[in-house]
Amino acid sequence: MLCSTVRMRWNGQRVGETDAAALAGLDRDGGIVRSVTTPEFAGITFHEVLAKSALNHVPGASAMPFDWTVNPYRGCSHACVYCFARGTHTYLDLDGGRDFDTQIVVKINVAEVLAAEVRRGSWGREHVALGTNTDPYQRAEGRYRLMPGIIDALASSGTPLSILTKGTLLRRDLPLLAAAHDEVDVSLAFSIAVFDDALQSALEPGTPTAAARLATVRAAAAAGFRPTVFLMPVLPHLTDSIAQLDDALRRIREAGAARVVYGALHLRPGVKPWFFSWLTRERPELVGSYRGLFPGVSATTPAAYRQWLARRMRPLLRAHRLDGRDETELPTRTRRGAASAPPAVRTTGASAVPTPQTTAAARLF
Ligand code: SF4
Repeated sequence: MLCSTVRMRWNGQRVGETDAAALAGLDRDGGIVRSVTTPEFAGITFHEVLAKSALNHVPGASAMPFDWTVNPYRGCSHACVYCFARGTHTYLDLDGGRDFDTQIVVKINVAEVLAAEVRRGSWGREHVALGTNTDPYQRAEGRYRLMPGIIDALASSGTPLSILTKGTLLRRDLPLLAAAHDEVDVSLAFSIAVFDDALQSALEPGTPTAAARLATVRAAAAAGFRPTVFLMPVLPHLTDSIAQLDDALRRIREAGAARVVYGALHLRPGVKPWFFSWLTRERPELVGSYRGLFPGVSATTPAAYRQWLARRMRPLLRAHRLDGRDETELPTRTRRGAASAPPAVRTTGASAVPTPQTTAAARLF
């Protein structure tokens, strides 16, 4: 997704420390409401917390091309091996591997807090991005139903919004989103990186299948949206053959997506060990190649690979008559008043670490 956070918010949430401006919930002394396990979500613990704020302001110095985000969940049961947000879980004294997938922080009052924030006269009704950190339509959303309140709070205050997700649960809220779209600009984007079911299940074990996600794209188009599909990350030697890319674009086209954004895998420091652990276990023959593509602390593939991928993608996009582009080719969104206007709502100082997916998403919106 798509999805990542800024360190300062979570620095105050190590066990034994309190950040009064951030979540009320993860300090030792009591902001957490309760921790819940349920047979319906075997192996997952939900940590229900009370958020003191919902709107996260992206600092002006950030490369993120949007100013405001809302993140109802921390951690993500979609469990994508390559997820760039994994490192952020360590700020909670949890690990970025199994804990990220199974220890999910839920801001159970996020919609109410958000509604109060956007009712303030000082709120500038700037674009709010959802899905820039963890997935707002991960499985927990089926239990907690936080998104309807968030959508309603934003739309009823005249605040435009965008959502990026791998989840099919969004389909539940399409009528609400369509109604919101009558009032404000609403943009929907879907991250679908792996179209082979076996590989998708290995790489993104908690996600719906590509077919289910494409069905959600189709439903969004039928509801009047112009959905974007993020064909990201493209994984070297795993999803980058001509046959694989051709099949993906054909299916995206058939689903009615308005546009496609593609980009090669990034492996940030907090993700790299987990990804290589998976690669060593599942595809050991590729470890040497990936070491070459991501030497040392390098988080990106070499420019030569990305150029090679672009040369491969362009004719395929033309053949499928898709409006598609590399993540780096998208125009930069104009930041509205980021440098001059004071924050309309007091914030936690939190924001998202720019990632290829979220940056590209925001540029579209
Ligand atoms: S959907 Fe995947 S990439 Fe996005 S936050 Fe969840 S685990 Fe990370």
